[in-house]
Amino acid sequence: MILSAAGRQLRIIDLPGRLGARLATMPVIHRLVAENLLRAGGDDGTAAFAAWIEEGRSDVELPFRPGRIMMHDTTCVPALVDLAAARDVLAAKGGDPARIDPVVPVDVSTDHSLAVDHFADPDAARLNMARERERNAERLRLMKWASGAFEKLTVHPPGTGIMHTLNLERLASVVRVEERDGEAWAAPDTLIGTDSHTPMVNGIGVLGWGVGGLEAEAAMLGLPVILRVPEVVGVRLAGELPADVFGTDLALLVTQRLRAHGVAGRFVEFFGPGVARLSADTRAAVANMAPEYGATTGFFPVDARTIAYLGETGRPAGMLALVESYCRRQGLWFDPAAAPEYAEVVTIDLGDVVRGVAGPARPQDLRDAGKAVDFITAGVAAGGVPAGAVAIAAITSCTNTSDPRMLVAAGLLARNAVAARLTIPDWVKTSLAPGSPAAEALLRRAGLMEPLEELGFGIVGVGCTTCIGNSGPLVPRMYDAIAAGVVPVAVLSGNRNFPGRVHPEVRESFLLSPPMVVAFALAGDAARDILRDPLGRGGDGRPVTLDDIWPDPDEIDRVLADARAPDDVQRRYDAAEANPAWAALGAPDSALFPWDAGSTYLRPPPFVRADARPALDGAVARPLLVLGDDITTDHISPAGAIPAGTPAARYLIERGETPGDLNVFAARRGNWEAMVRGLFANPSIENLLRAEIAPGKTVHAPGGEEMTLWDAAERYAAERMPLVIVAGDRYGTGSSRDWAAKGPQLLGVRAVIASSFERIHRSNLINMAVLPLTVDRDDALALRSLSPDALIHFPATVPLEPGTVIRMRIEDRGGAHEYAARLAADTRAECDILTRGGMLPALLQNLLGQVVEKVA
Ligand code: SF4
Repeated sequence: MILSAAGRQLRIIDLPGRLGARLATMPVIHRLVAENLLRAGGDDGTAAFAAWIEEGRSDVELPFRPGRIMMHDTTCVPALVDLAAARDVLAAKGGDPARIDPVVPVDVSTDHSLAVDHFADPDAARLNMARERERNAERLRLMKWASGAFEKLTVHPPGTGIMHTLNLERLASVVRVEERDGEAWAAPDTLIGTDSHTPMVNGIGVLGWGVGGLEAEAAMLGLPVILRVPEVVGVRLAGELPADVFGTDLALLVTQRLRAHGVAGRFVEFFGPGVARLSADTRAAVANMAPEYGATTGFFPVDARTIAYLGETGRPAGMLALVESYCRRQGLWFDPAAAPEYAEVVTIDLGDVVRGVAGPARPQDLRDAGKAVDFITAGVAAGGVPAGAVAIAAITSCTNTSDPRMLVAAGLLARNAVAARLTIPDWVKTSLAPGSPAAEALLRRAGLMEPLEELGFGIVGVGCTTCIGNSGPLVPRMYDAIAAGVVPVAVLSGNRNFPGRVHPEVRESFLLSPPMVVAFALAGDAARDILRDPLGRGGDGRPVTLDDIWPDPDEIDRVLADARAPDDVQRRYDAAEANPAWAALGAPDSALFPWDAGSTYLRPPPFVRADARPALDGAVARPLLVLGDDITTDHISPAGAIPAGTPAARYLIERGETPGDLNVFAARRGNWEAMVRGLFANPSIENLLRAEIAPGKTVHAPGGEEMTLWDAAERYAAERMPLVIVAGDRYGTGSSRDWAAKGPQLLGVRAVIASSFERIHRSNLINMAVLPLTVDRDDALALRSLSPDALIHFPATVPLEPGTVIRMRIEDRGGAHEYAARLAADTRAECDILTRGGMLPALLQNLLGQVVEKVA
């Protein structure tokens, strides 16, 4: 089928033709998934699709192929390290290392490491960015090397925006054109991203969600993302937003309502007449908070507001025309009167939205802004600092700074405060870190940057900053005040506020809109009714309340309309991409990455190899760990601080790192030696092999000595003894964490035997060639009493076929018993990966096979 649009003839899947009458009743998310399956073709996808359409459901896992991938500067490192190591292996065997290249476009943002060391200083942004370069030199060098070495990988240098704002304003095309077999195709823009707030782009009709690093790495190498038919909850929006609220207020209300309803793990799609009344910016704020309401997505279909947004952000007219004609032709254009068939429907009246704050510890705890005072811990005033002092006031985060209307409102409030001669108390740390490099141009043109700067809200840089916890030190007097009994509070326009996220000294934080951040900063004290009590005294000595300076909604719209210049957006991004410090950063331009043998951050991992692991046929294994139910990926592989005295800390200190400055595990993800020494060390882990054994340790058999997992693994490896982990229900729940699968593989674990697995972790284990084996619940409970010297005998032949049953004989002190375990690999493609030793060995074998063929 050919679509004529924007002067081009483009091939498309005929979605209305293929879906027939069902199209009108399907959620738009299902239409997009169906299009993806049909376009990719292939046996797995077509069979799954046919079953789904015929029966309205499918138990088969659907192979979804995202059009692109996004990562950021911390999550990209393990994938880049793996690809760099794979290039070494290929080159050593005579292959062309350049053949290792992502097969789908990958964009990497550089946003998560910027910290607010300097603020309320005209030079703050430059100084903060310079510190970022110093602190992350090794990682930036790897990223810059990757941007030159991999054709399909683009690194967006520091200053080019927060990942999700960059995606919304610059990268997302809504409908993309791709070349396939010499023909130009039009297809929906879809993506996965290694960040939980990837769904923000759902606000403009782009289907995308957050995944773990290993899933993204698999997709980079051309493997599909495995999905069941998404269960879609429809959220019907009715009514109209009151004039004095913002996208933040709506996002917080949606979070509260959907958390209460329960949408965990499901896809959310918004529909109904209220949707048409929301700007794309507001929709994006709501979509951003999908992880906070527990959903995979918060999807808004494409309509005239989406097209307007694309124009406002400087996208070319041809793109706008293509998006509109494609979506209308394919039945993807939003109809406010339509009511597709959803798994469940929740209704929200936009008229219920009020100026709110959420906190002090969870995003779903929405309060009327004036009531925040009722939920903070009563402290003791000290040294002139009030008991509930606002220690941090940050206009931060992709969630709310991506909406220029909210920034203009904050600027107008600042202007009015300056006019009333209000000032911000000196214990408040203020900052403005927008997601977009275009934000400053907008605020300057509107004449609002000056009053913001005058109050202390000058731009501290473009990046995540306070939202990710890189808030930098508090003002010095706050530390004394805290020691004397003040309970500090943070206010921020972000999306998460669990205790300690924003700053280790600040356990209470409220999420709120940018103008409300300015309001709390002016008050300097969270222990007051922000809507009614005076914020301070004006120049004439009279009390000034929020109502006195709250900007008029019509003025906000007028100022925004006058100041918004579509050309700005792409021009500012172009200027930020030309970052001279990035251009000057020394990075190798070789096909192979020159590893630094002394590095404690980047080391080539040993699982990147071309040969398959030996088959388990006839193998006899020992249990390394026996665990209970609900072992999360956090239990398996930590992300937080590297505690003193642990094997990982000792390893780093022996290599010259400073005790007390070892950084967090998340920052060491490019060094397998550090990561493997941190496995299963969570204090709540119980290794049932022996009572009272410390976390991170096990028993080596047959001698019975207790030792760290790493020491035991090394001894077992020397003895050529394969290992297994035994667990209960839901092994691997929690966020997808690549090291939760990579780490056990490096310990020599060949199989995990559990009564059930979390879906994504199961697929990560397969990609690392660790067999996920499921046993009956009764058998899993019986296996909890395994002794360390138990021997697990695998059959003479272990067939790696989908769902095959493997009979194991387990010899233990009580005798020998047989157990039937099912291989939890559902497709031939997964079994092929297991047979070939994992995802990276399979890739290398393919490429080396081509080398051999060429030589022959
Ligand atoms: S600004 Fe916050 S929510 Fe957005 S990507 Fe950065 S850390 Fe995540």
